Order: sequence, then structure tokens, then C-alpha cells
Amino acid sequence: MNFKKSNQLYNQGLDNLVGAVNSPVRAFASVGGNPLFIKKAKGSKITDVDGNNYIDLVLSYGPMILGHRHKKVDKAIRKTLKNGYTFGASTKNEIKLAKIVCDAFPGMDKVRFVNSGTEAVLSALRLARAYTGKDKIIKFAGCYHGHSDALLVAAGSGLATLSIPGSKGVPNDAVKNTLIAEYNNLDSVKKHIKDNKDIAAVIIEPVGGNMGVVIPQNNFLKELKELCKANGILLIADEVMTGFRSKFGGAQDLFNVEADITCLGKVIGGGFPVGAYGARNEIMEMVSPLGAMYQAGTLSGNPIAMASGIATLSELKKQNPYKKFDEVAEKIEGFLINAAKKYNVDLVVNRFGSMINPFFTKENVTDFETAQTSDTEKFGVFFWEMILNGIFLPPSQFEAWFLSSALSNDDMKKIELAIDKAMEKVSIV
Ligand SMILES: *Cc1c(COP(=O)(O)O)cnc(C)c1O
Repeated sequence: MNFKKSNQLYNQGLDNLVGAVNSPVRAFASVGGNPLFIKKAKGSKITDVDGNNYIDLVLSYGPMILGHRHKKVDKAIRKTLKNGYTFGASTKNEIKLAKIVCDAFPGMDKVRFVNSGTEAVLSALRLARAYTGKDKIIKFAGCYHGHSDALLVAAGSGLATLSIPGSKGVPNDAVKNTLIAEYNNLDSVKKHIKDNKDIAAVIIEPVGGNMGVVIPQNNFLKELKELCKANGILLIADEVMTGFRSKFGGAQDLFNVEADITCLGKVIGGGFPVGAYGARNEIMEMVSPLGAMYQAGTLSGNPIAMASGIATLSELKKQNPYKKFDEVAEKIEGFLINAAKKYNVDLVVNRFGSMINPFFTKENVTDFETAQTSDTEKFGVFFWEMILNGIFLPPSQFEAWFLSSALSNDDMKKIELAIDKAMEKVSIV
């Protein structure tokens, strides 16, 4: 396998792009080496510019749940393109996608489409503040909610990968109303509530995905919801990653907890830029033009993106791949655990539906602190051996691997073999 063309493009890209990437996690900063440049993808496979083929477990960090260029999605996009690209006025498909989304989330009567997960979450915070008339929010260490100022503290994803506690350029004033609690630790939330009167919302990834996969323990989410309710605080479920990933609907449904505001993104655009936030009528009626909370977007509800989202969610509903996802993830967990035993490598695997990842540690990973006990150098070795054996993984210990419904039995054999080789490599460095 050679990466000659990728390396050439990387060097060219450095001139006019920042680090030759448009999102930091795409740089291979934490695993070493240069990022791959991708040429195309189809089904479960992705192909780089040197013609190397990989089984894709990145799936653009989640959206491509049906695999790449599913024929129904492809057809819907092509058909829509013929009528124009964007109009600055409403289209029928916005109503259709809104209905699919609201039907899947019982707590959502109305939804507003935006262009990214970041935008969905920052709008949801504004909405929670508008509705409650309060300013403070609680977020959990290791949860990532996009790159808006107020949420770029103790965040996961690229910040965890690059070991950055926050971001430069965020004024103290922008984060002075952000309180940090620990995932799976209700007492850390209670303490903030005791010390602060004006908390508008608690925001959480109902299943952590941006510090690696972290599962809510016992009744954590239920008790969190009760705590919020008792104190007049809104619960915001950031399901940008988990929405439609592990169930048609979200993690809220699986854990039987209904949030006050839900944020979506990734899967709902099927590969095009779509984010969304929604809630019951009483809350959504605060949003302009019905209410006084302003939020707008030139390309929001873009026709091509709506067509892609509708086709993706309709096909997902039809396929109902969620049981299969569980089985596939269980198998991959088995491959990882067996290989770790065979080569005597400390490893913990967390998974939730179609999200899974190994941590190179002995400790149970239940929050950001335990996630960070992972040996990221070992992950780097593992990552490159997986690449050399034809498996494309996120280039970070702290990102979930994603499964698509396009994975075949043959793909699974290749994944098993690659994991064995990669674990052997980890054990000898
Ligand atoms: C990816 C993600 C975001 C940000 O979405 P973008 O589309 O990258 O802006 C927000 N929250 C969660 C939980 C995410 O996984």
C-alpha cells in the first residue's frame, strides 16, 4: 500500500488550507503521519486517491449509516437537483422531513432545520435561555456539542484528540455561564444546582460519543431528568450523533427518558449539511417567527439536503437494521477482546448500537477522566496497522467507530483479520 498521491496533495493543501483540512479531527495529529485524501466511496467501502480500498468505519463521523451512495438516496438527490438548488422559500420536502423527525421523537412537536450540529445546539441553548429566562447551563466534561463559544470548554472530539482544554479566542464572558459536571455523576450536577439559582438547561449526549463511546450507567439519565424537572431546568439531549443511529428515533427512547429539547444532525442529512432542534409546542413557539427568539439561515432546509434526509430516513425505517447493528457490534467487540487476550494487551470495549470503540486501558471507561487513561500511542500503532490492512478508522482514540448497514460478511472477516494483526503490532512495540 502506498500513499504517494495523498502525501502530495497533503503538501499542496498546506499552502492554502489550514493544516490541509477543514475540520481538525481529519488531520492525523494524534496518530502521526499524513491524512489520507479520499477519491470516492460506495457501499461499505471508501477509496483514497492512491486507489487503496478500505472498509469504512468512519462514515463521515456518522451520517452515512446506509453506506455510501445508497441507490434510493442517490436517486432522490438527482431528481431534486433538476428543479433547482435553493429558493429562499419553503418547499414541500421540509414538511415531510419534519414529520418523519417529529414522529420518531415523542418529545418533539415542532422542529427547526439548520445546517449543522453546531448550529442546532447553539440555537437550542438560546431557546432554553429564552424559555426559562435564565442564563446558566451545565455541560458534562468530555461531551462535545459543536464549536460555539459557550460549549468549547472541557469538550471531547478534536479537543480531546489534541489534548486542548478549551479554545483560544473564546472570551471569558462567553463561558462564564457554562458549568462543568462529570458524566455518570449526578452529585456533580446537584452541587451546581445548589450553588446556582439561574440554571436554564443541562445539556448532555445521552450516550457519550465524543470521548469515545461512554454509556450512561444505571439510572443516570432518568435521575438527571427528574433532577432537572424538580428544579425548573430544561434537559437538552444532544442526539446529533445518536439520533437514528442505534434506534429509529434516539437514545432517549432506548433509555425511556424524554428531553425537553432535542438536537439532531449527522444521520438526518444522509451526507448533506442538516441539523435540527425541536421540542414540544410550548417551547418551540418561542422561536421566530412565532416568538421572540431569533434564529435564521439562508440555506436552512435546503432542498437537496431535505431530499437526502428523507430518502435516508425512509430507507432506514424500511431496513430497520438496528438488531443487526447490535449483532455486528457484538462480533467486533469479540474480535477486539479475543485479540487483546491473545496478545496480552490491556483493552476495554464500549459499544452502543452501531457505535463502538476500544480503549487501550485496564479501567472501565465511564467518563472523560477514565477515557483519558487510554494509551493513545498504542492506539496510533493500532490505527496504522488497521489502515495497512484495509480498515478506515477515525484517527483518534476518542472517536467512535461507526457501522453502516452496507457491511457484508466478507467485510467482517477482513475486520477480524485486521484487528488480529493490529493487536499483535500493538503488543510488540
Ligand atoms: C458532531 C456533533 C456535533 C456537531 O455537529 P457539526 O455538524 O459537526 O457541527 C454536536 N454534538 C454532537 C453530539 C456531535 O456528535
